Amino acid sequence: MHCPFCAASDTKVIDSRLVADGLQVRRRRQCLTCNERYTTFETAELVMPRVIKQDGVRQPFDEDKLSRGIQRALEKRPVGADEVEQAINRIKSALRATGEREVSSELIGNLVMEQLLNLDKVAYIRFASVYRSFDDLAQFGEVIASLDKR
Ligand SMILES: [Zn+2]
Repeated sequence: MHCPFCAASDTKVIDSRLVADGLQVRRRRQCLTCNERYTTFETAELVMPRVIKQDGVRQPFDEDKLSRGIQRALEKRPVGADEVEQAINRIKSALRATGEREVSSELIGNLVMEQLLNLDKVAYIRFASVYRSFDDLAQFGEVIASLDKR
């Protein structure tokens, strides 16, 4: 790519490392003309499956929406931005790994719960209570009880 400072076409890579669980390459580059340095990120462009909502409506996969749901559950919880990003990447990898062109929103919900369970139990319960919209306290109690067993 052209240097973002002077638009020269010759730049060299001075450092290259894997980030985001190896799903992304971060490259530090230097322009051979103006010597400015900048960073580029490289990720594979993989098509995400479409999402089938409970009412049967198909929607494009929406990473922002996924991220918002997870952030909401993690509000004021001691979980770092890197961990959240990794969780989102794992969910996306799992969805691609299905090899399906369409996946149910339920599957995504279950993947989110799986990740939240590893990250933070309070966030897990918050998400589960909204996502599963518990009808009664007994159901909610079952989830809490199942946590104790782990
Ligand atoms: Zn330059």
